[in-house]
Amino acid sequence: MTVHERRTRDCQARLRDAGAAVAVLAPGANLRYLTGVTETPSERLCCCLLPSDGDPVFVVPDLSGAQVREATWVSDVRTWRDAADPTATLEDAVDDCVADTGEVLLDGTMWARHVLAVQSVVGDRPFGLVETALGPLRARKDAAELDALRRAGAVTDEVMTGLFADADSLLGRSEAELAREVERRLVDAGGEGVSFEPIVAAGPNGAKPHHHGDRTVERGDPVVLDFGTRVDGYPSDTTRTVVLGGDPPAEFETVHDVVLSAQAAAVEAVDPGVEARTVDRAAREVIEAAGYGDAFVHRTGHGVGLEVHEAPYVSADSTTTLEPGMVFSVEPGVYLEGRFGVRIEDLVVVTDDGCERLNDAPRGWRV
Ligand code: ZN
Ligand code: ZN
Repeated sequence: MTVHERRTRDCQARLRDAGAAVAVLAPGANLRYLTGVTETPSERLCCCLLPSDGDPVFVVPDLSGAQVREATWVSDVRTWRDAADPTATLEDAVDDCVADTGEVLLDGTMWARHVLAVQSVVGDRPFGLVETALGPLRARKDAAELDALRRAGAVTDEVMTGLFADADSLLGRSEAELAREVERRLVDAGGEGVSFEPIVAAGPNGAKPHHHGDRTVERGDPVVLDFGTRVDGYPSDTTRTVVLGGDPPAEFETVHDVVLSAQAAAVEAVDPGVEARTVDRAAREVIEAAGYGDAFVHRTGHGVGLEVHEAPYVSADSTTTLEPGMVFSVEPGVYLEGRFGVRIEDLVVVTDDGCERLNDAPRGWRV
C-alpha cells in the first residue's frame, strides 16, 4: 500500500467516526496529501470524491486525465470534455460511490463555483469541512515529511547566514531588491522557489508584521527578514531581525532581548501532552512582564506542512494537545508603530520529550 493510500484509509476511518458520507477534495494540500495529485485550482471542475467506504473517484477535465492517472494510486479517474457540462460526470460519480445520507465534507479551499456544482448533485444534506477529519492526521508528520521539512529549514538557514556574511553589500538596496535577492539565493541553495513572498521590512516598516515595500535599507535600520522555500513540496518559514551595520535606534536592543527570551521560553514550553496555548502563554508572559504586551499583536505560531499556515495554531485560545510529529512556528514579535519591529521565528517539531528546532541560523541582531 502506498503512503497516499494508507493516509486515505486512515482518513476514511475518521469520516466514518464523524458520520460523514463523503469528503470532496479540491486541488490543494488535502488532495496532494491523500492522492499525490498536484493540480492547480482553476475554473475547470477537478475533484476527488472520497466516500467513507469504498474507493475514491476522481472527476477531472479531459486534458488533465493522463497526468492525474500518472500521479495517483486512485484507479477510478473519470474525465469530462471541455465543451461538456461536468455536472453530469460528477452526478454519475456521486451516484456510484456516495451514500444517500450523511454529511458532505468540502475542502476548505474549494472555489465557490465548484461548491455550487457539488451542492447541485448531492441534494439537501448537511455540509462541513474536510479539515475537521483530515486536520489531525495532517498535523502529525511522518518520517519522510519531517525529512523534507528539515532540509527546507537547512536551505533557509544557509541563505539567512549567507545574507549576514554579505551585510555590507546589502546596505543601500531596497526592500524589494533584497526580497528578490533572497529568492534567487534560495533557488541557488537547492530550494523550490519561495514558500511565500519574502518579507524584508526595514526601519519603521518592521512594525508592520507582513510589510512589502521598497524602502532603502540604511545603516542602523533594524531589518525583519522572514522567508522560506520548499523541498519535496514542504516549506520552511523563519525570521531574524538584524542590523546590517551601524547603531540601532534607542530601545531596539532591549526589545530584541525581550523577544529572544520570549522565543526561548516558548520553545522550552513545547512538550507532548501540553496544550498549544501553553506555548503561546510562555512567550506572552515574557513580553508582558517587560511592558510590551500590547505590542505583541499576533499569535505565537502556526502549524507548517504542505501549507505554510495549517493546524495546529499556537494561540492564546488553542486547546489542541501537542503530539510528537507536530510541526509549527514559534515566532513572537514586538511592533512599535513608526519606529521598528522585532520578530524571531523558528520551526519546531514536537518530539517524545520536548522539541527539536528546524532552524539554527544565529538569532542575534548584530551581524
Ligand atoms: Zn515567517
Ligand atoms: Zn510563520
